[in-house]
Amino acid sequence: MRTGMMRGVGLAVLMAASLAAAGQGGGSHHDPSGGVVSGSPDLKVYFADVEGGQSTLFVMPDGESLLVDTGSPDASNPNAPRDATRIAAICKLAGVTKIDNLVTTHYHSDHVGGLPQLVAMVPVGRFIDHGINREDDPATVAGWNAYQKVLAEGHAEHLVVKPGDLLPVKAMRVQVISADGEAITKPLAGGGAKNTACAASPIKEVEKTENDRSVGLMITFGRLRILDLGDLTWAKERPLMCPVDKLGKVDVYIVSHHGLINSGSPALVDAIAPRVAIMDNGTHKGGAPTTFETIEGSSRLQDLWQLHTAEGSDAKHNVAESHIANLPGPDAGNYLKLTVRIDASFSVTNGRTGESVEYPAK
Ligand SMILES: [Zn+2]
Repeated sequence: MRTGMMRGVGLAVLMAASLAAAGQGGGSHHDPSGGVVSGSPDLKVYFADVEGGQSTLFVMPDGESLLVDTGSPDASNPNAPRDATRIAAICKLAGVTKIDNLVTTHYHSDHVGGLPQLVAMVPVGRFIDHGINREDDPATVAGWNAYQKVLAEGHAEHLVVKPGDLLPVKAMRVQVISADGEAITKPLAGGGAKNTACAASPIKEVEKTENDRSVGLMITFGRLRILDLGDLTWAKERPLMCPVDKLGKVDVYIVSHHGLINSGSPALVDAIAPRVAIMDNGTHKGGAPTTFETIEGSSRLQDLWQLHTAEGSDAKHNVAESHIANLPGPDAGNYLKLTVRIDASFSVTNGRTGESVEYPAK
C-alpha cells in the first residue's frame, strides 16, 4: 500500500516533469494540489562539508525538503558563518527557498550549532528532534539553549519523534529507527534475520552522551534504502542489530558519527551491507582506519565516498581522490551529491570535480 502510494507520487511527478520538458511548463511550477514541483523526478541528497559535523539536505521530487542537522556555530564570522553559509548556498543550488523539515539528530554542537545562524538565512517550516537535552557538557547546553530560543521565538511547528514514527513527508518514507536512547523493537520489512556478524563484533560501553540519543532514520525512496543514524553509538547499535538484524540491507549508508571508532560496529555494517557509503568526516575528525576497514570489508560495498581526505590516516585508509570532495590544502567546502531515480538507480557526484559515478538499480 505504502509503496504503491509512493510509486503513484513518482509517476505523477514524472508526468509533471515530462510536461515541463515538452514545453508546457518550465522550471519550477505549481502542481494541481498547490505544491511547488521541483521539475525533477529524482530524489537529490546533498552532503554539505561542515568540517566533521553533519548537514545533509534531501530534496524530493515534489520540491519538499528535509535537512538533517546544521553543522557547527561560527562566532568568529557573524556576517558569513562558515557552516550556515555553506548550507544556505546548497539550498540555493538545490532551489530550496524554505527548509520544510529540519531534523536535529542530537544536541552536540557539530549537529545543532549552525541552526540559529542558518534559520536567519533560510526559513524553516518544521523542527524535528528527540526531545529534551540530558547532557550537561557546557557546549551541548549552549547549543540546546540557542535552539530552544529559536523554537520559542519562531512560529514553526515542532515535532518530537520516537522510534517507529514516520516523518510527515510525502514523496519518501522516513521512519525513525532510534531516538532519545531508544530503538525500534520490531524488525522493519527487509529485516528480521539472525545476524551472524554479532558474535565477532566487540561490545562497547554506552557513552551516556547525546550521541546515544541520536535520531536515526531509515529513508526509502521507491525501492532504494538510505540509512542515517546520526552519531548513534556502537553500544546503541547493538539492540538494533543483535541477535536479530532489525534493519535489513541498505543501498546507501550515511556513515555514522563521521567514521569515528565509537560507532559503525561490524554488527551494524556487515548486516546492512551497503552498496555505497558516504562519510561526512573532517580533515582530522572521523575517517578512522578501523571504520574504513569495516566498511571496505562489507560484502556488497561498491564505493565509499569521503567529504575529506582523512589526513591523520594513510593512503591505504583513504579512498581514491576521485571519491573525495576535499583534498589536503585550502578548503573549498565542496559537497557530495546523491541522485536517486524512482527506478532505484542512483549516482554520486563529487562537487569538487563535477564527475559522477552511476550505480544501476538492483
Ligand atoms: Zn557529530
